[in-house]
Amino acid sequence: MSARILIVDDIEANRRLLQAKLEAQYHSVLLASGGLQALQMAREYDPEIILLDVMMPGMDGYEVCRRLKADPVTSHIPVVMVTALSDAEDRVRGLDAGAEDFLTKPVDDFLLNSRVNTLMRYSAVTSELRKREANGLRAGAVEAPSALELDRPARIFLIDDNPRTSTRIATLLRDNGHKVITLLESGSMGDMAQERTDVLLVSLLSRSFDPLKLCAHFKTNDLTRAVSILLICDPLDRAKAVKGLEIGASDMIMTPIDPQELLARVRTQTRRTRYVEILRDRVDRGLELSVIDQLTGLYNRRYMTHQLQQFMHRAVMGAKPLSVMMLDIDHFKRINDTHGHQAGDEVLQEIADRLRQNIRPMDVACRPGGEEFLVILPETAGDLAFAAAERVRRAVAAGEFSVLGNSRQVGVTISAGVSSLLGPHDTMAELLNRADTALYQAKSAGRNRVQTIAA
Ligand code: GH3
Ligand code: MG
Ligand code: MG
Repeated sequence: MSARILIVDDIEANRRLLQAKLEAQYHSVLLASGGLQALQMAREYDPEIILLDVMMPGMDGYEVCRRLKADPVTSHIPVVMVTALSDAEDRVRGLDAGAEDFLTKPVDDFLLNSRVNTLMRYSAVTSELRKREANGLRAGAVEAPSALELDRPARIFLIDDNPRTSTRIATLLRDNGHKVITLLESGSMGDMAQERTDVLLVSLLSRSFDPLKLCAHFKTNDLTRAVSILLICDPLDRAKAVKGLEIGASDMIMTPIDPQELLARVRTQTRRTRYVEILRDRVDRGLELSVIDQLTGLYNRRYMTHQLQQFMHRAVMGAKPLSVMMLDIDHFKRINDTHGHQAGDEVLQEIADRLRQNIRPMDVACRPGGEEFLVILPETAGDLAFAAAERVRRAVAAGEFSVLGNSRQVGVTISAGVSSLLGPHDTMAELLNRADTALYQAKSAGRNRVQTIAA
């Protein structure tokens, strides 16, 4: 994977050095020599990561970071503060400005690469989901998750079998408002399922179990797959850290643990987990709203036409049959008039249920509107489609519909028209038109029956 990285530093030699290191890893590099230029380039080129020098004349790195985080166009881009001083005070200021991470000059190659790879994974998640969201929803419905949502205190599972370090880390995190459950306290992983967990903090120094195996387990388990894993590593055992990242851990921190660094990485990984959750929820909801009829849960007209087009194409390509059945409730107006609109709605829902129960999983049941239903029957010739429609018709007529909290029983029937694809020159409009004509004939012939148009 190669990333687009913006390097911001007022000293040319520093820029060149970082550039050489990153280009050696096949990343593409953008350079800015000052704060204003950095802000403008971030907006224009949407880099995946920004490496930001702290000490710059004019606007310093903290201010640049604050502005990047305040601008909705750039706020999602992870920022790494590159600081000459490894002073805790500087790191606190970086955190306050919203930075995702820190690097200390002179920059160590291994640490630089692992930072970049970690943040690329973070960026990949957020940008992929942002893209999907932008495609799935109409413009305007898209809104970045608020920092408030992302930065609520985290729920962290700490898995470290050393009571001394475990206690120290747990205390630090708790002092900063996070909720921590340690392996030593819980003794089991079962608790994890009960509430959303944001971060799994796993010490690779643990001896009483194999921490890498555990990470692999988390990544293959549905409940924990999306949760970010942050590894605690021994700086003398980088190979193990690398293996952990390969297995799917999102980030690591070296011992001895720098408190600010741990807080920053916990925050970034918490955001990553939440970003995934929030956007997934939204994408699912957005997609659902755009294709599902809310009353019956069947597909709406928009989805119906889209799917029918695809199925027709596939049928022609594969020389397979394709049929549709169009259903319409008989004298539905009377049902509304006699029992009320609410009862009518319940009848529509019950029809949808009986319909679903009497078609195959591969069939696509839609409610294009009103009291009309349409089912797409892939790989189904006319005679079988007729039989299927007949089965649905009987299932509707077979038992009365119980509505308004079982207070009323209503007899309901439907009529259906069936049509089949005639060949490569047939169109969707004609296919639907034939089904409609057949349906009209079924109505004219006395309702509660199925008709088909002979080819
Ligand atoms: P036919 O047997 O010829 O189809 O007669 P019909 O009464 O079913 O057909 P018509 O088209 O005259 O009336 C359809 C009625 O369906 C009118 C409309 O108010 C009602 N309707 C359409 N959508 C809904 C809905 O979502 N809920 C309810 N309760 N009624 C609906
Ligand atoms: Mg009707
Ligand atoms: Mg009608």
